[in-house]
Amino acid sequence: MRLTHIKLAGFKSFVEPSKIPFPDQMTCVVGPNGCGKSNVIDAVRWVLGESSAKNLRGDAMTDVIFNGSTHRKPVSQASVELFFDNTSGVLQGSLANRNQIAIKRLVTRDGQSLYFLNGSKCRKRDITDIFLGTGLGPRSYAIIEQGMISRLIESRPQELRVFLEEAAGVSKYKERRRETQTR
Ligand code: ATP
Ligand code: MG
Repeated sequence: MRLTHIKLAGFKSFVEPSKIPFPDQMTCVVGPNGCGKSNVIDAVRWVLGESSAKNLRGDAMTDVIFNGSTHRKPVSQASVELFFDNTSGVLQGSLANRNQIAIKRLVTRDGQSLYFLNGSKCRKRDITDIFLGTGLGPRSYAIIEQGMISRLIESRPQELRVFLEEAAGVSKYKERRRETQTR
């Protein structure tokens, strides 16, 4: 499974509809301070369901919407769509025979948050379900940010266990059991 490209519009500094390709096994994002490199990673984590504004370096969830600059007015909504190549079939279930998987999140200034899977509206849970056990999620280890290694080294055994369970593919079943028990 590989992230092939991202489409963004109105998200943080990406006010114009933009497409960011990740053409090969390794892509580097370079540029001067404040040009929006970290915003690209924020966009990925946001679509995967990040629900903490602080983890996206803002105060409120609507802070991800472009809030204007000296030359441009603020916009009313932000959207990001991630495109994954699934030809290796890593993503299973109803998505197993899909070569491309598109996951989109959209938020409006009034706080409405919508998710789409291959263009059709879905629940946030449908998105988190897809990635459980793959190592990719809003707080998972597929995205290693500044300070995360030291946080991992210093984490308590219970916190470390969450990462190990994700790597072993156990977290998916634990989540299902938790849901069944709370029904
Ligand atoms: P550094 O090299 O310092 O880490 P960076 O390239 O990672 O910088 P980012 O943190 O991704 O930069 O981007 C910061 C820029 O994004 C700032 O110019 C900030 O004004 C802009 N920005 C963040 N949120 C919004 C928003 N909601 N609306 C408009 N611009 C925003
Ligand atoms: Mg940065």
